[in-house]
Amino acid sequence: MFEITNVLGETRPVTQLYSWNEDSKDYAAYNCPFCCSAVSTQRNVVACENPWCLANPMMPVAEAQKLRDKASTREREEIERKRNHELAMIRIREDNERRIHGYQEFAIRVRAVNGCLRCSNQYHDKIRKHRAECPKAA
Ligand SMILES: [Zn+2]
Ligand SMILES: [Zn+2]
Repeated sequence: MFEITNVLGETRPVTQLYSWNEDSKDYAAYNCPFCCSAVSTQRNVVACENPWCLANPMMPVAEAQKLRDKASTREREEIERKRNHELAMIRIREDNERRIHGYQEFAIRVRAVNGCLRCSNQYHDKIRKHRAECPKAA
């Protein structure tokens, strides 16, 4: 087991290391722990070649820092997005509860004056009463 250190000095262990013998030559390969690119000594590659990978030794540190910042911004945005979604769900739930609660209160008021719940309008706060049976009841 060995570890790869990227240009920012962050270290991750290599989880899969392969070695084989071909034409009497020993080769080794692993997947870059930072980007999963295959790194193989068969192609004379000893470090990650992915131009966007922070473990690529050719990656300038300033560029790597920029990529890292961008990644953390994305993560922050993702967290923010999730949080907003949760807040929206809570708001919808509260709205529903308030609506249901509001209707219950309205219904109590309608019943208290012997009004017709079917014809009364909660949103316009209008309570209708009928002398006889509700015309909409039929
Ligand atoms: Zn890589
Ligand atoms: Zn009615």
